[in-house]
Amino acid sequence: MSDMTHGDVKIHPSVDDGIVPARDGFTGGTLKCRCTDRPVEVRINGQSAHNHVCGCTKCWKPDGAIFSMVAVVPRDAVEVVANGDKLKVVDPNMAIQRYACTGCGTHMYGRIENKDHPFYGLDFIHTELSSEDGWAAPGFAAFVSSVIESGVSPDRMDGIRARLRELGLEPYDALSPPLMDAIATHVAKRSGKLAA
Ligand SMILES: [Zn+2]
Ligand SMILES: [Zn+2]
Repeated sequence: MSDMTHGDVKIHPSVDDGIVPARDGFTGGTLKCRCTDRPVEVRINGQSAHNHVCGCTKCWKPDGAIFSMVAVVPRDAVEVVANGDKLKVVDPNMAIQRYACTGCGTHMYGRIENKDHPFYGLDFIHTELSSEDGWAAPGFAAFVSSVIESGVSPDRMDGIRARLRELGLEPYDALSPPLMDAIATHVAKRSGKLAA
């Protein structure tokens, strides 16, 4: 018996059966793409942060999921350790350069090269690509309304938001308030409205 009332709403395979908590002392793992031949492997030397599910149309998501799950790590914690020749940037014009496997399409990491970007220095990763347990658990849902842009019917949104809340993933239509505040602070310091 489940006390969940919206459990039929599928968000992402990593959260649909409940959220796995982070493990204390976790030191990272290896992300692997879905290729059976010469998979790309990316070693993450550290725990991830700000993990969340994301409804935007740019983040990579597994087949059938309406949200992606994405976290950040310092860029110097990201190391391509196998078959990096298969990686290609999906869209060089985007602020986040998403390195995808040309064999299976999986996004292995996203990197920001613009030093003025609020999140410069952080890479975006999908920890579900690792077989290790202990990664930071997702803590909120970002860009929830954007799932409509991927073809989700607007009349499903109440159920989707209710399910996210059941899972403890507070739904936001942008990033979470702390991350939106961090972006605005960065902009205010650059413009001189706040002391740098
Ligand atoms: Zn691949
Ligand atoms: Zn996204």
